[in-house]
Amino acid sequence: MREPFCTKPWTELSYNTNGVRPCCVWNGEQYQGNLSEYKSSKYIKRIKKSMIDHNMDFLNKSCFDCIDNEKQNLYSPRQSRQARHLELFEYWPSNICNLKCIMCSANNSNLIEEEEINLGLRQPVEKHITDISKFDFENVKILRVYGGEPTAGVHTFQQLKSVADRGYAKNITLAYTTNATSYNKIWTNIANQFAETDVGISVDGTGKVFEYIRQNAKWNKVEENIFKIINDATNYKFSIVLQTTSFILVDKWIDFFLQFPANNIGMYQLYDVPGRLTAIPNNIKQRLINKLENKNHVLANKIINILQNAEFDIEELQAYKDYVLMLDRRRGTNILELDPVFEELLK
Ligand code: SF4
Ligand code: SF4
Repeated sequence: MREPFCTKPWTELSYNTNGVRPCCVWNGEQYQGNLSEYKSSKYIKRIKKSMIDHNMDFLNKSCFDCIDNEKQNLYSPRQSRQARHLELFEYWPSNICNLKCIMCSANNSNLIEEEEINLGLRQPVEKHITDISKFDFENVKILRVYGGEPTAGVHTFQQLKSVADRGYAKNITLAYTTNATSYNKIWTNIANQFAETDVGISVDGTGKVFEYIRQNAKWNKVEENIFKIINDATNYKFSIVLQTTSFILVDKWIDFFLQFPANNIGMYQLYDVPGRLTAIPNNIKQRLINKLENKNHVLANKIINILQNAEFDIEELQAYKDYVLMLDRRRGTNILELDPVFEELLK
């Protein structure tokens, strides 16, 4: 029998307040029924049949991201095939978060959502409340929890506790991403019941620039928590977003990250808002590269390479200017106070 087009409908499940889907890049409809009945639902049976039949009329839309990436010879999640039983459960409990990061949106932060509602930019909507308390986690090997901020929400605590209380946690790796602002006892008591913890620590720079990007966060507290998290976690990795606001000062904050193995530092493209590294003009970029060369370190060299590949784009710079100055007006912040380089960039 021919291999299915993709095995994710057998091996993964991605659950958020909009419903359930076979993976987090699925562009098709989401399942709206009871989570406990998902595995036997007509919805997933139809998708599995389409995968077995290679029904491209159906899959070209729902699996657009994978198909498109593969056309460009880029990685697609479809390429990682696993055994055909549910092993990975991806879970977005809610958009409850204690921060308003400048590159985030209302979908992921209730504080940004409230800000936009107060400004009349969006209407309040009634939310579906996620509930995994009756789901059968028997074969699940990894429970991956995203934000909002998992360590800052009572709802998330209750949901994960329900997995632990039913005895599943000892066989599951809990993978989660945290902003490291609120590493607390309630969270660690629950997280420590899982077989392993695999933690993504989202930080962008250090000190003042970190606090500007990750609004409401305090660097000193985050720095303290980072070491506690690393101490408790089975595996950890930093997630740094490649954005102009922080990388234009990379020479000033990179030293903090040089103390960790370079393999534990992940850098990810900025999506959804302007401010990619292509907004940095060549003269400023060259100054940064010169300073990074003096560090003589594998991570600094990796960043040099990334900067060299980010070809300056004046439209990106204009869009970035409009965006950060708009946020400053909205939030009463002032990016110009961070460093004189922003006068030079935004003049
Ligand atoms: S092909 Fe891609 S989008 Fe489709 S189910 Fe597989 S991983 Fe998801
Ligand atoms: S911590 Fe994460 S979810 Fe919260 S506002 Fe920042 S980017 Fe968004």
